Amino acid sequence: MKKKVFITGVLGQDGANMAEYLINNTDYDIFGMIRRSSNPNFINCKSFLKNSRFKLVYGDLSDSVSIDSLVQEIQPDYFINFGAQSFVGCSWEIPLQTFDTNATGVARCLEAIRKHRPTCRFYSAGSSEEFGDVTYTPQDISHPIRPRSPYGASKAAARHIVKVYRESYNLYAVHGILFNHEGTKRGEEFVTRKITKGVARIKKAIDNNKAFDAIELGNLDSKRDWSDSEDFIDGVWKILNQERPKDYVLSSNETHSIREFIELAFKAAGIQGAWHGKALSEEYSATTEYAIKHDLNSSVLVKINPKFYRPAEVDLLLGNSCPAREELGWSPKTSFENLVNKMVENDLLCS
Ligand code: GDP
Repeated sequence: MKKKVFITGVLGQDGANMAEYLINNTDYDIFGMIRRSSNPNFINCKSFLKNSRFKLVYGDLSDSVSIDSLVQEIQPDYFINFGAQSFVGCSWEIPLQTFDTNATGVARCLEAIRKHRPTCRFYSAGSSEEFGDVTYTPQDISHPIRPRSPYGASKAAARHIVKVYRESYNLYAVHGILFNHEGTKRGEEFVTRKITKGVARIKKAIDNNKAFDAIELGNLDSKRDWSDSEDFIDGVWKILNQERPKDYVLSSNETHSIREFIELAFKAAGIQGAWHGKALSEEYSATTEYAIKHDLNSSVLVKINPKFYRPAEVDLLLGNSCPAREELGWSPKTSFENLVNKMVENDLLCS
């Protein structure tokens, strides 16, 4: 009989990339869970929504009855939990919902598997945000758990409950600790997509001789270890298909600042810029030469808006994914520069 994979969060970046990957690389049937919402957005699922091996099912991580009956009915061989309140920035505004979905939600999935399908392999989507206030660099799987946001705390709790269920009930349950991963399906509230969408909007305005507003951002000093989500999906599948369950870190093993991302993104659109000013007055503006050549009225491309600062920040993330590379034979294919170029090119086409 064909194997069955159950994916939560299938409308999001990672869920959609995973469904696409499994359609292309296996003959398994895929069940994608979505919440009953008045206006679901299927933009990330265009390539597989009508595929005969893909089926949408309704459920909610905050509702144990729905998770329970889905696991009982479908009897999945794999349960991949990408459903989450995935945005760190708003986790201070909705801390309880964040915790309920991201931590208690994982316990609901594990309970359903324990009761109805104990042979099912379970993947829990962990995050480098669990490391938070880092004590050493690069961060590996043994780095202490020191989250700085309700989001980070919720993912840390998920990691603990996965370990407890794995050891108590002998389940194949793993928690992958993934550093930041982006791409053309990334939500627009994340800084990378906010920048690439903003660059595309500004480029279009310049090409049409129109005025434009600068992209408004918060803290430009933080550094992140960014990779391509599509590369990570292959790693997640390998983590799920080991002989024995074991947690791994996936990362690019490089770190870059928000400033570097901005510079590369404008460069990818052919816009030349330079930094001026300090702290809250810092701006990234078109160079004088570029502004004159393109007859710009305003040359400010990026400026600071303090409302995008967070109550507590994770200043630096840099992963060490050597064990995953050596033991799983996994490695990321897309460089940082190629990732930025790919995201800008996509947004230039779509804008
Ligand atoms: P995160 O690492 O999961 O929190 O991913 P984000 O893309 O949301 O944020 C990455 C970094 O960008 C964080 O350090 C943010 O503080 C910083 N940042 C600066 N300006 C912005 C902004 O306007 N939006 C977001 N989302 N992040 C910003």
